[in-house]
Amino acid sequence: MLDCIFCKIVNKEIPNYTVYEDDFVLAFLDIFPHAQGHTVVIPKKHYDNFLSLTNDEAKLLITGVQNAMQKIQTTLNPDGFNVGWNENPAGGQVVPHLHVHIFPRYQGDGGSSVHSIIKNSGNKTPKEVFELFK
Ligand code: 5GP
Ligand code: ZN
Repeated sequence: MLDCIFCKIVNKEIPNYTVYEDDFVLAFLDIFPHAQGHTVVIPKKHYDNFLSLTNDEAKLLITGVQNAMQKIQTTLNPDGFNVGWNENPAGGQVVPHLHVHIFPRYQGDGGSSVHSIIKNSGNKTPKEVFELFK
């Protein structure tokens, strides 16, 4: 996609520090890291978000994420990870090209868990929400 910064990285118009690459994904170090080895994994083709992928493409992306994590584990030996993505602006997405964040975690690094992203359960109980799925 024209003017997409991550498409430009795939096309090598902008340099990157590649951690892992295969036919479907490119994984590279985030330029403003929130953790040592903070990596983003992107599909080489432009997709706005995860829900735009087919099931088969989603499998290829998740396989790429696992392989990148494996590479980070071997290289940096973190004690854990947080892995996820910001889906759409409401979810905090800034770069409009789907990317999965890998945050390597280290004992005593001062970070928190995914539960710290939001604490606003809305006005329905889990039972009331469940009723909507029926
Ligand atoms: P988002 O908030 O969209 O989930 O995250 C976008 C991420 O992309 C941010 O963590 C930001 O630091 C990273 N980023 C933005 N521009 C570049 C760039 O040109 N190169 C790299 N390596 N990372 C970038
Ligand atoms: Zn793009």
